[in-house]
Amino acid sequence: MKNRIERLKKEKNAVILAHYYAPAEVQEVADYVGDSFYLAKIAKQSDSDIIVFCGVQFMGESAKILNPEKKVLMPDLTADCPMAHMVKDGIIDQMRAKYKDLAVVCYINSTAELKCLSDVCVTSSNAVKIVKSLPNKNIFFIPDHNLGRFVAEQVREKNIILNDGCCPIHAKLTAEQVAAQKEKHPNAKVLSHPECDAEVLAVSDYIGSTADILAFAKRDESKEYIICTEDGVDYKLRTENPSKRFYYTDPRPCCKDMKLNTLETVLSVLEKEENEVIIDAELSERALIPLNRMLELAK
Ligand code: SF4
Repeated sequence: MKNRIERLKKEKNAVILAHYYAPAEVQEVADYVGDSFYLAKIAKQSDSDIIVFCGVQFMGESAKILNPEKKVLMPDLTADCPMAHMVKDGIIDQMRAKYKDLAVVCYINSTAELKCLSDVCVTSSNAVKIVKSLPNKNIFFIPDHNLGRFVAEQVREKNIILNDGCCPIHAKLTAEQVAAQKEKHPNAKVLSHPECDAEVLAVSDYIGSTADILAFAKRDESKEYIICTEDGVDYKLRTENPSKRFYYTDPRPCCKDMKLNTLETVLSVLEKEENEVIIDAELSERALIPLNRMLELAK
């Protein structure tokens, strides 16, 4: 299957982008593996005719919005992120009416419709930097309240209003689960994603995006780590740090939507060129504005 994927990639001038949470075998055949921010930048720079995006819907959508002339395919179009929809109808208008200088800051983990209603997008890698750079005092951070709270703690000069949304995978992790691993591995450092609840972040040694966690594990001198994020990151952690040990909370955090990306589905979309991401042209143009603003402000 891997050979057929390689051959088709060359024949069709296709590039495969995979998120760190995709299964290991998919990361192995990908040309680029990264977090949402890195993959959005790669999608924009790509000169391939076809982009196969191994992630969830909002990632495929973002790639299409940034490359409207390219064919963006997803191995499984039903792979979706529940958090991407967690903003109540009308609440953005209510906030704009309440705060005249409001900036709506939208985590990239959101639908194209939500991006259209926002002033700027962010990812977990650049959210602090971008929020700091905005001239607005009042910020409505959507959809993830955990990332919003983490940003608010770093950017105390702003009034950050939180939304009632979260990643169901990260929000399930508890401080007790971390403590149970800590008991088994007392020397392990706890590395957590900011989508985790405050109680998990409070017992963490390091907090960062998946890309930040990978970079930390590489440069840090410890030998053992308890990883508080989705377990797809394990593939890169182990291949980049063969002499280190990585443990996960029990049950191991696993996003079933990310796991819909398989070698079979990658091969199938490359062969049949099906599962194309289609976005209404007007929606796409409007959603491009906050995405481009993110890429500009994050430079
Ligand atoms: S891990 Fe959470 S934020 Fe990421 S795609 Fe899955 S549900 Fe969405």
